[in-house]
Amino acid sequence: MSGKDYSYDYFRNFPNTDGFFGQYGGIINVGPLEEEMKKIAAAYRQISQSADFIRELRDIRTHFQGRPTPVYYCKRLSEKLGGARIYLKREDLNHTGAHKLNHCMGEGLLAKYMGKKKLIAETGAGQHGVAIATAATYFGLECDVYMGEIDVEKQAPNVTRMKILGANVIAVKEGGRALKEAIDVAFKDYIKQFDTAIYCIGSVCGPHPFPMLVRDFQSVVGHEAREQFLEMTGNLPDVVTACVGGGSNAMGIFSGFLNDPSVELIGAEPGGRSMKIGDNAATLTIGKEGLLHGMNTLVIQDENGETAPVHSVASGLDYPGIGPEHVYLKDQGRTKYETVSDEECINAFFTLSRVEGIIPALESSHALALAMREAKKRPYESILVNLSGRGDKDIDYVAEHYGFGPKE
Ligand SMILES: *Cc1c(COP(=O)(O)O)cnc(C)c1O
Repeated sequence: MSGKDYSYDYFRNFPNTDGFFGQYGGIINVGPLEEEMKKIAAAYRQISQSADFIRELRDIRTHFQGRPTPVYYCKRLSEKLGGARIYLKREDLNHTGAHKLNHCMGEGLLAKYMGKKKLIAETGAGQHGVAIATAATYFGLECDVYMGEIDVEKQAPNVTRMKILGANVIAVKEGGRALKEAIDVAFKDYIKQFDTAIYCIGSVCGPHPFPMLVRDFQSVVGHEAREQFLEMTGNLPDVVTACVGGGSNAMGIFSGFLNDPSVELIGAEPGGRSMKIGDNAATLTIGKEGLLHGMNTLVIQDENGETAPVHSVASGLDYPGIGPEHVYLKDQGRTKYETVSDEECINAFFTLSRVEGIIPALESSHALALAMREAKKRPYESILVNLSGRGDKDIDYVAEHYGFGPKE
């Protein structure tokens, strides 16, 4: 374990003022957006320190989101596995059913303090779109959500949710009509309306200051969990697991434990169908250094160095890049990453549903599957899982492809 100091100073100095975590991150290749990103970074550094902003965000967390979310000891699951004690940080109980609202409410509040009138975002499966539409409504802002036409068809319930919340859902018809094109078109439209709008990125990704700002807003998960776990057990957990798509829920919970060298921090990457390129989205395992969406990071690339197609049974995890801070922390030896296959994910999804009465999101089921695997190797330890979201959105897909689970 590295003896590096990850106390308060770490969060002040990482990223540095140019947005780098070591060699990763930055504001790269974003053309006319660069100046605006620098403005947002400066505004954030100032506004986020103000007593009014801190008080208002705290009030929102308590009264609108329903925080703190509980930490729950899975007694039956732990006994069934016969290994480590497994605990869940219940982000599935956060308003809208996932951790994403933690940073969307922060981004919305920042927009309000900056005098912006509109939130712009892209969405793939629609989860980020629903959270940002919720935040926009709360703050009385307009909201444009860009979504590939294929995703609009596939994710009909989330499109309906966004529309009921009052957002404009813009179906992108260009190219592959999916997430990548949605981001391209959203950025083009954003450039025309800097003065009145702000782009809200859905993870610890994109150009600086978003990897920092989203991490800071998500860190509430880790700070709460550390305190709750200590109060419940008198100790810190031995291991913390979280699934890793762009990396925001993982950075959120890891933030609370970075400075506790005895706590192992392990991310669960989507191993998909196999470890061949195109069959998974395990960027920290098979990615190579490259540029994507305004940042220097690891990217899953084909033999020509182009961004490769990715797959995961959990649509919130199929991203070919990764938040730059994860790459930095992995290089430092502070965090580790393991892959979890689609099959292990589905297995964990049914196990938690049947044994504990909690239906987890397929994304979160990766973190749980990793914990179940580790539990068997560590009979005297405790494992805290970030249960990033609830599985209601996944039930139709799961029932169609896997039925209702094992018959016992
Ligand atoms: C979007 C999503 C994720 C993946 O995003 P991260 O930025 O990696 O956290 C994980 N879990 C749920 C429930 C999600 O909606």
